[in-house]
Amino acid sequence: MKFVYKKPGSLAEALELKARYRERGVFIAGGTDLLIDLKSGLLQPEVIIDISSLDEIRYIRKDDDHIRIGAVTTISSIQKSPIVQSSAPILLKACKQFANPLIKNVATIGGNLVNASPAADMAPPLLVLEASVVLKSLDGERVLDLEKFFLGVKSTGQRSDELLTEIRFKSAEGLNCEFVKLGQRRGSSISIVSLALMFNLTDGVISDGPRIALGAVAPVPFRARGAEDVLHGVEPSLENLKRAGVALKREVSPITDIRGSAGYRKEVSASLLLMAFQNLGYACNNP
Ligand SMILES: Cc1cc2nc3c(=O)[nH]c(=O)nc-3n(C[C@H](O)[C@H](O)[C@H](O)COP(=O)(O)OP(=O)(O)OC[C@H]3O[C@@H](n4cnc5c(N)ncnc54)[C@H](O)[C@@H]3O)c2cc1C
Repeated sequence: MKFVYKKPGSLAEALELKARYRERGVFIAGGTDLLIDLKSGLLQPEVIIDISSLDEIRYIRKDDDHIRIGAVTTISSIQKSPIVQSSAPILLKACKQFANPLIKNVATIGGNLVNASPAADMAPPLLVLEASVVLKSLDGERVLDLEKFFLGVKSTGQRSDELLTEIRFKSAEGLNCEFVKLGQRRGSSISIVSLALMFNLTDGVISDGPRIALGAVAPVPFRARGAEDVLHGVEPSLENLKRAGVALKREVSPITDIRGSAGYRKEVSASLLLMAFQNLGYACNNP
């Protein structure tokens, strides 16, 4: 493994380097995904551009009703953030179930999204938050809906001269939310299936949403709009959740791999939807 290591001192310098090297240069943030690909030989870049120390893209801010998270913010920092705790508790719940403390101290939210694993745990909560990503290059800035950013396994809408700088979304303060994840064990495991749920209730009926997103059951993390439609405007009763589970099983397109079979993942998707509501105290006492 032979490459040139560059550590830009500013965002502008990082963009210049990427514009110069394009596909021949790769960014490294926490390195928790990239180093595996380098060691296996899957990636053989000429230049590695280290963005982990760029303070310009390490922040968590709330401006009016919008939350902005810099791309090199670590999962640990997000988990500790009072802004995230009050305005996006679903992200906090996902951080708590992410990897282990050692990984969380270096793994970044930007790296998790750009790596574009179907099992990326930051993706489902950010999809229900209807987040956007900010991509910068020497030519300027583009803002993409996260839903449109994921194109396939390990494939995104990021151009070869671009850097992901920020993730933005509206505050979700006061909404019911839950993130549930099934892994091979409780700690430090990649999702077999993950599910994020957000909704509001008015007079016992789901009025705002629900928004439901899943990870690890399709080539990209996605919003389950069929199941959302079943639950919009109805009570979160066991019967309605079972109907939504049937819709959900039709929407997922999982593969069989070392972590679980396609059929198992399908069944678990519906179970996680029910579990998410039950964790919040709904549909618990129905016969
Ligand atoms: C033991 C272990 C456990 C794990 N558990 C989990 C888990 O529970 N859940 C989970 O979701 N993931 C898990 N992961 C995967 C991993 O930690 C994450 O995907 C991590 O968030 C990636 O971020 P990073 O900063 O380490 O990215 P890096 O490895 O530095 O980069 C990943 C990719 O993104 C690119 N990149 C990084 N930042 C940017 C940017 N700002 N702009 C453009 N391109 C960029 C890099 O070039 C590279 O292609 C685990 C990994 C390990 C090793």
